[in-house]
Amino acid sequence: MATTRRVPPYFDAAQSARAAADVWSGTWLSAEAIAERARLRLLSLLRFARAQVPLYRDLYRGLPPSSALSLAELPAVSKSVLMADLPASLAVEVAPAALEAFIADPSLVGTPFAGRYAVWTSSGSTGVPGIFLHDGAALAVYDALELLRFRGLSVAPLPAAPFLAQERYAMVAAIGGHFAGIACVERLRRAHPLLSPFARAFSVLQPLPDLVAQLNRYRPTLLATYPTVAEMLACEQRAGRLKLSLEELWPGGESLGPAARAAVAQAFGCRVREAYGASEFLSIAWPCRHGSLHFNADWVLLEGIDSQGLQVPPGVPSQTTLLTNLANRVQPLIRYDIGDSTTLLPGRCPCGSSLPAIAVQGRCDDVLSLAGRDGVPVKLMPLAVATVLEDDALVHDFQVVQTGPRRLLLRLGPAERPRAQATAAALRGYLRTLDLGAVRLELGAEPPCRDPVSGKLRRVVCTAGARAA
Ligand SMILES: [Zn+2]
Repeated sequence: MATTRRVPPYFDAAQSARAAADVWSGTWLSAEAIAERARLRLLSLLRFARAQVPLYRDLYRGLPPSSALSLAELPAVSKSVLMADLPASLAVEVAPAALEAFIADPSLVGTPFAGRYAVWTSSGSTGVPGIFLHDGAALAVYDALELLRFRGLSVAPLPAAPFLAQERYAMVAAIGGHFAGIACVERLRRAHPLLSPFARAFSVLQPLPDLVAQLNRYRPTLLATYPTVAEMLACEQRAGRLKLSLEELWPGGESLGPAARAAVAQAFGCRVREAYGASEFLSIAWPCRHGSLHFNADWVLLEGIDSQGLQVPPGVPSQTTLLTNLANRVQPLIRYDIGDSTTLLPGRCPCGSSLPAIAVQGRCDDVLSLAGRDGVPVKLMPLAVATVLEDDALVHDFQVVQTGPRRLLLRLGPAERPRAQATAAALRGYLRTLDLGAVRLELGAEPPCRDPVSGKLRRVVCTAGARAA
């Protein structure tokens, strides 16, 4: 299939310039003109997917012609359906063993798979880890959306622009895996080696004092990280151990509550800007200067649905959200369940953009605080704990509950129980790298439990009163 049509290159200046021109011109269009762009892109995507992608060819068999279909008439797809037969979700033939080998090699993060495609993996927070391929045309669109809408740059730049603004960009995340954010930093560093000292990734899995020391040496002006990490770094900044002079802090991947946001902004004396992105579409929405989160409706469609699969009206939080990626052809996502609750906000934003505004209710795990060897509490970032279990123990259906200053409870889903000993060993191995006193790790007999109040399944939880003082 790949041989019969032109596949966009992984990195190409002309392709980037075209995407930038498109995004620039689309930013201030009327709502009707944005909807028309999206309609034409959807029609083209549907025709392509029905012709080239086995998953959609089978799923849409017997449906009317694409031009006679509305989005709501199409069946939704889920991550578990896509991952159950990954080759069927692709428009190109890929050897599963080659893809597996690529993902298993951390030295390849940010490099193109098969010379053409970005491969991003997502955590299994909804039970199944995801693998997503993006072509160069989609990457060019994501770059343009980041630069022209999120960053608000006023020129149509090439992807080197983040470095040309004399900024130093730090991302603190789980490095070593092919996660979208890290893979993008590495991709830009590889494309612009001379400028690579101005963008660096730092591991969230190392002890906090080491991370603080590295950040102090690097002196970033822009910092992207998970909200729980931002909160911990804000504590370090307030205590005077971290000495950063940030212009902006970009939390992502989890949701940041208003109180935590205010605390982080105050500690660093900088703007805190939360975008909304995913491994399925890197730049879904961006915050404007009025604080509205506008989604890029010319390149991504979002449908908030209720538990019956019906679209919810504006102003009502959805049960989940279906995403349609209009930019990517190598692994088309059409009415794909992204698992987040979103609310389409009614009315027009005073910033003048016709791009619709949304609110997102994301995940909310807890920071753990265990008793340290010298009595000083040691904080554990939930993402670090989850990454250790996913990457080292290869389990996804788990819950780690802090039940006391020196006690953790590990719960595993039925399918993961045979890996209980290996999982406990991986967690103990991680705990040993921290400056902790003795910590008792128990294996719970029950599977992961939902929060009785919110109904959410949180994977890293600290029960009331369990935190080390
Ligand atoms: Zn706005």
